[in-house]
Amino acid sequence: MAKTHTAQAQSGLAHISGDFELFADALPLLVWVSDADGKYEYGNSHWFHYLDISKEKNTRQQWSNSIHTADREKVTQLWNHSVLTGEPFETEYRFLNGKTGEYRWFLARAKASRNNKGKVTKWFGSLTDIHEQKNILDSQTFLAEASKILSSSLNYVETLNQITSVAVPHIADWCSVELLESGQLIQISVAHKDPDKVQWAKKLSKKRVIDMSSEIGMPQVIRTGKSIFYPIVTNEMIEKAAKNKTELKLIKSLGFSSAMIVPITIEGKTIGVIQFVTTESKKRFDQFNLYTAEELGRRAALAIQNAQLYENAQRKEKQFRALYESNIIGVLYTNLEGQVSDANEAFLQMIGYTKEDLEAGRIRWDRLTPAEYQTESKQALREILSEGAVTPWEKEYIKKDGSQVPVIIGSVLLNKNTNQILTFVLDITERKKLEQRKDEFISIASHELKTPLTSIKGYVQILERIVQQMGDEKLNSYIQKTNTYIDRLNSLIVDLLDVSKIQSGKLSLDVSSFKVQALLDEVLEGVQQTNSSYNIIQPSHTDTMIQGDKHRLEQVFTNLLTNAIKYSPRNKKIILSVEKLENDIQVSVQDFGIGISKKEQSKVFDRFYRSDSVAKRFSGLGIGLYISYEIVERHGGKMWVESVAGKGSTFFFSLPIKQKALS
Ligand code: ADP
Repeated sequence: MAKTHTAQAQSGLAHISGDFELFADALPLLVWVSDADGKYEYGNSHWFHYLDISKEKNTRQQWSNSIHTADREKVTQLWNHSVLTGEPFETEYRFLNGKTGEYRWFLARAKASRNNKGKVTKWFGSLTDIHEQKNILDSQTFLAEASKILSSSLNYVETLNQITSVAVPHIADWCSVELLESGQLIQISVAHKDPDKVQWAKKLSKKRVIDMSSEIGMPQVIRTGKSIFYPIVTNEMIEKAAKNKTELKLIKSLGFSSAMIVPITIEGKTIGVIQFVTTESKKRFDQFNLYTAEELGRRAALAIQNAQLYENAQRKEKQFRALYESNIIGVLYTNLEGQVSDANEAFLQMIGYTKEDLEAGRIRWDRLTPAEYQTESKQALREILSEGAVTPWEKEYIKKDGSQVPVIIGSVLLNKNTNQILTFVLDITERKKLEQRKDEFISIASHELKTPLTSIKGYVQILERIVQQMGDEKLNSYIQKTNTYIDRLNSLIVDLLDVSKIQSGKLSLDVSSFKVQALLDEVLEGVQQTNSSYNIIQPSHTDTMIQGDKHRLEQVFTNLLTNAIKYSPRNKKIILSVEKLENDIQVSVQDFGIGISKKEQSKVFDRFYRSDSVAKRFSGLGIGLYISYEIVERHGGKMWVESVAGKGSTFFFSLPIKQKALS
């Protein structure tokens, strides 16, 4: 009982029963009792503990001083009203913790007790700590508001600016966003309730260069992607953070109370930070505030990412628009049904149709393709559907007036569900004309060269006979050398003439039956004679008779063997194989020379193609393989190459044993 008496004495409520005091102490509330005018008569242990004052100091003035200045006027007015009218008192306010110096939110309630005449005799009051609930509610409201702002515009600098203004004073006294730009943190936005302070902070941030290698603060958050949380900012922390005395003075003058820095992370990369600092409000951030701040960081990251994606899409759209609207390249959208749903002016001009034709559905891409390109077109379509795109290829389109225009086209599948295809078309009429002029030139030039060369050869033959009669060895050797050069020149001219023949579709075959082995042996002997240092191996033989143009096939064998020799200057082994398959004969020439890169393998059969690596080291015109390929194809056969750069190449060709026309 002695204890109760002491408590009663301390609280100054001697006539209230000990049971009430025990009950009041058991409540998780600050409880007080006052007389009719509000003069305190009792406070429970929580009351004194929270305020950290003695009984003597427990006055209305002390109470009023402990209320946050922002709430003080509202609360005083309400209390005065209650004292005057005897009406219950109820409100929320921030109340200072005398021990920690922190303000916490309380729900304050008081009710009057009256005597039998109805006159107020006492006030019974309580304060419930609602700080956490208030925090949750506050942060939910804040996050909802922030999300609304972030999704309101795709200009993220503008939205981040608004975010910091909402954070102040909801969450903190200061809030700023800094984003990484070329390795440096740049302040995007800063907010404080005092506009002068904002101006000051902006100026300061412009002058300040942040040491990105620093182990603390924003650079640390950027590096680790993890938040930094200082519920209480101590003097030691400030001293560690300040770069010099001026900065130290400045930070101290701001009176930092609590701080947190959270990351803005996009796809695992931290691109910026949001800082929250409390100063004059003396608010201490707690775990919940940190959670809210981190959530804001995540939402800001999402908003920035969305804005960037949108910006990228816009830029690409703009670039594509520029291309679409220029008359550089034809662009059209089609579907599998053959409909051209849209096309640009360049394409319409190319095929001689109008916008009205397009809108009336009169342009169908399947009808634009001439019969000779239908098979290739279908193959390209299959490739688009299976691979999503087709490598550019040459074809022709039928124009509205019935004439044809040569083009290069490339297509991509835009949408798998709707099968929408985007096609780019380049008009190559000019290039084709140029190629035609080149072909004509080669044809005329080789004919013009051939005639005098035939005369030279005739005169040299006459000279040869005379010299032989004279028996002059030296002169004879000169004549032989001249003959060799004439032969070489002749074969070059013959090759060029062949190219012209192929181009104009005039390469004819003189087909007969012969033993393929005999032809191979003959060619091999000739090649081996002039290249005695090479070891040409023939592991297999065949006695198959084939039907074909003996002279043309000799050209193919010779070309493959001389290439194998020419492009193997070091490793002098060559394997010539022949194999009889069911209906075909397959020949291969394998060398261990310079080889051909994967990229170039598909091009070596093209007219005038020479790989970059050989052009400077080996002489040639790049037409031997082109002619060989055409000859084999004219026979109904196939030609291909397998090669590894630096290791060697194997050229293959297969020929049907019997020619269709003759069988
Ligand atoms: P040329 O030999 O006159 O250049 P070809 O049409 O015979 O013309 O060959 C075309 C190109 O193919 C050559 O320039 C060379 O780059 C490549 N090539 C042909 N045969 C071989 C080979 N056996 N090894 C390596 N590269 C070859």
